[in-house]
Amino acid sequence: MLSSKSTQSSLFIGGLDIGGTKMAAIVADRSGPLARVVEPTAKTGTEYAPAEQALRLLKDACAKAGVPFEELDTVGVSSCGPFIRQQGKIRLAAPNICGGIARRGELPNDWMSVPLEEVLRRHFVQVVIRNDCVAALTAERAFGNLQGVDDCAYVTWSTGIGFGLCVDGHLLHGKNGNAGHAGHMLMTDQSSAQCGCGNYGDVEALVSGYNLEARCDRPPAELFDAARAGDPQGRAVIAEAAKWFGRALFNVTAALDIERFVIGGAIWHHHGEWLEPMVMSELCTRLPALTNGVSLSSPGLDSLVTDIGALHLVMPEDWPNEWRARKPWQQLQES
Ligand SMILES: [Zn+2]
Repeated sequence: MLSSKSTQSSLFIGGLDIGGTKMAAIVADRSGPLARVVEPTAKTGTEYAPAEQALRLLKDACAKAGVPFEELDTVGVSSCGPFIRQQGKIRLAAPNICGGIARRGELPNDWMSVPLEEVLRRHFVQVVIRNDCVAALTAERAFGNLQGVDDCAYVTWSTGIGFGLCVDGHLLHGKNGNAGHAGHMLMTDQSSAQCGCGNYGDVEALVSGYNLEARCDRPPAELFDAARAGDPQGRAVIAEAAKWFGRALFNVTAALDIERFVIGGAIWHHHGEWLEPMVMSELCTRLPALTNGVSLSSPGLDSLVTDIGALHLVMPEDWPNEWRARKPWQQLQES
């Protein structure tokens, strides 16, 4: 939620969650989320395709909720990054969406970046765009497991790796809103694992779901099932990934004096309990002055953390207290 926002008079707010795999749109009023629609993220056509899809999904969500689209003038966006700015407006330069950046040659476009803010601003009075992990962090601080924790981070362990960072109660943004891209921290030059950004041996290259699949030639779900059933090769791969992930958390703790990490993303969602001791043994066996008492937890908002984060970016100031009391997102989770 932004202190500078001026949406007090809005009856409805929209949220967009833009990922490399899927895009979701959600419409809410003071009572809570009203409708949510989701589709695979558009990656063909012109570079305007993702923003046009975002508008269409917001229209669909409005239709589903029975809300006139014209009454929606405020949208919060939680998006994969990084971002770049052109004429002051945010464009997504995300390797998982823009085929011109990715080294893999597997995306059906040659985009280097996609216009997002420019298109949304043509339709909405207020648009707030944040990195998805930053949006998730704000949601967990408002409604989830980071309430009252001033030095904290939200981390996703999924197809990619990302961080949202908060120090002394202040969210970190950076010059282009890219603070927290610690998934691209370089860890080793002894690895042939390559990240979508082009780096070899960065955190994302070493541990992301995409990379585990590429290295082991089987989907992460199968790899984890085999490892958990005792398959020695699978176990070795996962232990190695957990080591790098734990080391990344240590590095972030050393840099920022973090007290608590909330970890989301599909891999942690399904296997966090099993991974936690391996990660903690890498994180908390060094420099006790920095690491004593550092804890890990899963998102209190579960799989809706980035969607609720998008809404929270533009939510009128008097809504969160009511939402905290009533937890209206739970209905959406159940449907
Ligand atoms: Zn990278």
